[in-house]
Amino acid sequence: MSKVHNFSAGPCILPQEVLKQASEAVINFNNSNLSLIEMSHRSKDFVDVMEKARNLVRELLNVPDTYEILFLQGGASLGFLTAAYNFMKDGGSAAYVNTGAWANKALQEAAKMGKVHEIASSKDKNYNYFPTNFQIPSEASYLHITTNNTIFGTQMKKTPISRIPIIADMSSDIFSKKINVSDYDLIYAGAQKNMGPAGTTLYIVKQSALGKSGRQIPTMLNLETHIKKDSMFNTPPVFPIYVSMLTLQWLKDNGGIEWIEEINNKKAALLYNEIDNNPLFEGTAKEADRSNMNATFVLTNDGLKDEFDAMWQTANISGIKGHRDVGGYRASMYNAMPIESVQVLVDVMKEFTQKFA
Ligand SMILES: *Cc1c(COP(=O)(O)O)cnc(C)c1O
Repeated sequence: MSKVHNFSAGPCILPQEVLKQASEAVINFNNSNLSLIEMSHRSKDFVDVMEKARNLVRELLNVPDTYEILFLQGGASLGFLTAAYNFMKDGGSAAYVNTGAWANKALQEAAKMGKVHEIASSKDKNYNYFPTNFQIPSEASYLHITTNNTIFGTQMKKTPISRIPIIADMSSDIFSKKINVSDYDLIYAGAQKNMGPAGTTLYIVKQSALGKSGRQIPTMLNLETHIKKDSMFNTPPVFPIYVSMLTLQWLKDNGGIEWIEEINNKKAALLYNEIDNNPLFEGTAKEADRSNMNATFVLTNDGLKDEFDAMWQTANISGIKGHRDVGGYRASMYNAMPIESVQVLVDVMKEFTQKFA
């Protein structure tokens, strides 16, 4: 099989060695002659996996002891509601920065729970920038932000200064760069953008911030339920948690967040440099707000679409078709993507221009 350069926006590329180890564990886990997915989640083997996964998150992101780490189900999409249930005071309100489709969905969920202040939005320019100038209402229970806008290719460059707690959906840039966890009361992220397969969602929550909403929270949506049971209130998604653990171990073994951040910066610089200097391409996001994870761009001459598509397909590039809301192309460069794959894309863009410009 020839190598595919997988630029998929999610589910994402994972390290080859992680996939290999995961596939072996499905047949025979830890020489137990049992499959990882047919053994009790309460067995020592799996309890160890869960603990390792938690410890890796803590270590890689420097999570303070006052924060709990959970691996739950429902995706980031359930996180939208979980965040509001646990943090929006009964009869209170919350502030949302609307930076794209996911941010807007988060806002819509919260609006079912109470009053939402949309304090900033980049909808006026099809979400091609990250608003920074906004007033945070002090009466709101929290400020919600989406740190990386997977569809539109923008990324928050600086955490806002806020007197109210900040909640962040970090689905598509968690573990890609250094963060300061204590800036947030809650961070949540679906696994399948930068950590593992779909099926588990990471929550990092400041324990002392919970239990204050004054709401009756359904058991499964109550983060305290899951804290009390170490993410094992009900059967956890064992396979996605295991693969996430392997990916985090891979990250740690290679040098952790500092290592990956530098590589991610290099990958993004390589591609954006080509987009900016190649006359046949144009970036869609405002330069200062461009995402290191998802680069969105279009052809300056749409008539050459078939020619370009044929060229990248021949080069074994996969997953760069843009989202329907933006059109054009989107190259996602998550942690496991080697810089060599980005170079292949850049070389195709150069060759395309030599041929057709
Ligand atoms: C993909 C994505 C989501 C949705 O995640 P699910 O796990 O599919 O619910 C939410 N937020 C962001 C920023 C995303 O990229």
